[in-house]
Amino acid sequence: MARILVVEDESAIAELVAINLRHAGHEVTLAGDAAQAQAAIDAVLPDLVLLDWMLPGLSGLSLARQWREAARTRDMPIIMLTARAEESDKITGLDAGADDYLAKPFSTHELMARIRAVLRRKAPQTLDAAVEIAGLRLDPSTRRVTWQHGDAAHELRLGPTEFKLLHFLMTHPERVHSRQQLLDRVWGDHVFIEERTVDVHVKRLRDALSVARCAHLVETVRGAGYRLSEQAHAASA
Ligand code: CA
Repeated sequence: MARILVVEDESAIAELVAINLRHAGHEVTLAGDAAQAQAAIDAVLPDLVLLDWMLPGLSGLSLARQWREAARTRDMPIIMLTARAEESDKITGLDAGADDYLAKPFSTHELMARIRAVLRRKAPQTLDAAVEIAGLRLDPSTRRVTWQHGDAAHELRLGPTEFKLLHFLMTHPERVHSRQQLLDRVWGDHVFIEERTVDVHVKRLRDALSVARCAHLVETVRGAGYRLSEQAHAASA
């Protein structure tokens, strides 16, 4: 499940896209212009934005450029939708920071395939693919985390937030995530939840992982945040 923001002023297209995305299990927010889109992003950082180029007022192209310059939205996946099918327009769209570019009219199948491809590359925690690191295996489709001990696979008991947190960390390993980033990407809320909430859930996650002697995988990076690393040593946990 991904949080997808659809920025499109033509309501017929927006509705059609929204129906298909919801049918695929995604959570959809609609915005009809740049101001609404910015307000939606200020509230909840989406996992992906479908951005129409031609909007009333500030264009989708200018919005994409703005988002690429802001720290919080720099890596936010953007697929640009447009009636402009010229090669030069496509290049302009990609240069503005779009991850992909789709010319209207597009088929729903193609749109969904492009969305899956961008999510796989940039937001794999929204997909159902199982991930495995250091003997730990997390399967989103069954919501199970198992670890291999001898010949047997044991199941780890995790709360829903710890599961989401571990899923995000396992799909973005070896990278440091600030508490703000984790609130945005795991909780979807950077405004109303306090940063120490992250610390509380990291502690619970480590407690759960300690059963599998894996607590050290989640490292504290002083002054920066948290990182899941296979290179972490048990002693430093
Ligand atoms: Ca439009």
